[in-house]
Formats: sequence, C-alpha cells, structure tokens
Amino acid sequence: MKKNFVIAIHGGAENQSREELGEAKEAAYQQGLENALMAGWHILEQGGSAIDAVEAAVKSMENNQLFNAGRGGSLAKDESIEFDAAIMDGKNMKAGAVSGVKHVKHPITLAKTIMQRSPHVLLTSIGAENFAMEQELEMKGDDYFKTEEKIKSLRKAKKKEKDELLKDTVGAVALDMDGNLAAATSTGGLENQYPGRVGDSPIIGSGTYANNEVVAVSCTGDGEGIMRANVAHELYALMKYKKLPLKEAAQEAMNVYKDRIEGDRNFIALDPQGNVEFSFETALMFRACKKNHDPTYLAIWKDDTGEWEQE
Ligand code: ASP
Repeated sequence: MKKNFVIAIHGGAENQSREELGEAKEAAYQQGLENALMAGWHILEQGGSAIDAVEAAVKSMENNQLFNAGRGGSLAKDESIEFDAAIMDGKNMKAGAVSGVKHVKHPITLAKTIMQRSPHVLLTSIGAENFAMEQELEMKGDDYFKTEEKIKSLRKAKKKEKDELLKDTVGAVALDMDGNLAAATSTGGLENQYPGRVGDSPIIGSGTYANNEVVAVSCTGDGEGIMRANVAHELYALMKYKKLPLKEAAQEAMNVYKDRIEGDRNFIALDPQGNVEFSFETALMFRACKKNHDPTYLAIWKDDTGEWEQE
C-alpha cells in the first residue's frame, strides 16, 4: 500500500484587510508560502523524515523577511529582537525549544539541535546562544535581522498610529512515509512586547505539539491566550480522550474557555491519516498544504478556494 505524506504550513494569522495588505504583498506572501511548502514537501517525497521537513519549511520562512521569524522578526519596545521556536517529534515525543535568542540565524535549527544533542527541552537567551555557538550553528548580527520595515512599523505602533500589531509567526506540521508526525513553530513574538517576554510558540503543549498516534499542531495568534488555554495540547487531548475526529476537536479547541480567555487563537493541525485543519478566527491566515502529489492548496483569506496553479 502506498503511504501518504503530507505537509501543511502557516505564516501567521492576522486581521488585515485586502486593501491594507495590498496586491504586491499578497503575491509575495504566496510565493514565500509556496517556497516554504515545497522545501518541506521535497524532503517527504524523497522518503525523508517529518522532523526534517518541518524544519526545512520553517527555515525557508525564517529566511524570508516578510514573516515574523528569523530575518524580519518583529521588534520589542526597546527595538531589540528576540526569537522563540520549538520543534516536536511525534515518533518519540522528544522536543526541543528555544526562547529569547538574538543572534541565531535559524532558531528552529537551534530547537532541533537542543532536542537531538542536549539532555534538555528548552534553553533560553545567553545559554541558548552559547549552545548554538558550541554546536557551530550560524550566527548573525542585528543588522541581518532588523529590517527598515519592522523598525518603521514599531515606531508607528508606539505612536498608536495603527490598530493591528505585527504578528506572522510561522509553523509547519508534517506526516512522513513512515507514519511519523512532527510540528515546528518559530517567531519574533509580538511587536512592541516587553523585552524578555516569551510567547506560546516555544512552550510544548501551548504553541507546538506532536504525537504520532494523535495529531501534530502549530499555533499562531495571541500567545498569552494560547498559553492559558494550552491550545495545542487541548486539541491533542480532545482527540485522544474524547475520541473526537480532527475537525470536531479543532472546533472545540478553538472555543475552550473562550469566555474567560481573550485573544485570537489559530492553528494548523494534521492527523495520522493525513487530514489537515486550518483553524483561525482572524481575517486571514497565510497557509498552504500539499498531500502526496495532489495539487497544492495555498490560501490567505477566509473565502479563498486554495487552488494554486504555480509549481
Ligand atoms: N503566538 C506568537 C506569540 O505570541 C505570535 C503570533 O503567532 O503571531 O509570540
């Protein structure tokens, strides 16, 4: 029997309108999503692992200054930049995560290296950077990460000249031919956040989770709310213990304690059968997926059909 392989990615979810985003930027996001999706898909197609596929997809978005991860990450109140990332392997439930690093080119690769080459799950700030250097990961200076656009955007946010703060965390979930699930998430956090703030993305069970038997999840949105609702693990638990299929579990996870926990919560999820859910309550979610050799699904707006011609 032929085995399914699937990858789904997100480049964040937010409340911009079509007019605010603009056609040129929309096209650039589409291209960025396609590049990231295919970087992961090619690994799966050649029989590679889900964990390598999610890392490759996320790295591609970390390289792209459009997204709020790696290059082009959003800036904190003091114009500093700090990255959080996590990765989880559904095969053995091993996980690696990093928070508050400023000079690591690929925070997701650091998270994977922590998972594979250290006895720990989460390393933070200076200690994490020292470990990255010890492992000979690529480091970059401030000028690489801080783009003009993000500096301007922060200044506007501080003067309250705009309603929506920059988000666009990135993430990926994948299923490989051996039936393994994996999830990865990487972010520059919230624009204008307090320096030192850590969001949901590197918290295993909040923004990132994977277990081969049940589901792989990567969240985006208001990190404080996602952490309090433990969204990724909640989705897992609804499927595992309540035996809900992915679609119903996703709807329920979106609404758990919604009356008490504010903030937008959005996620992508993939089950062992290869079903994908994109759940979001914002105006848009940058998203894409590809199953086996089926046509690519790539969409931004709620009402997008997701048909994508370009290859
Ligand atoms: N969840 C991220 C954080 O709170 C931000 C986002 O996904 O847009 O750091």
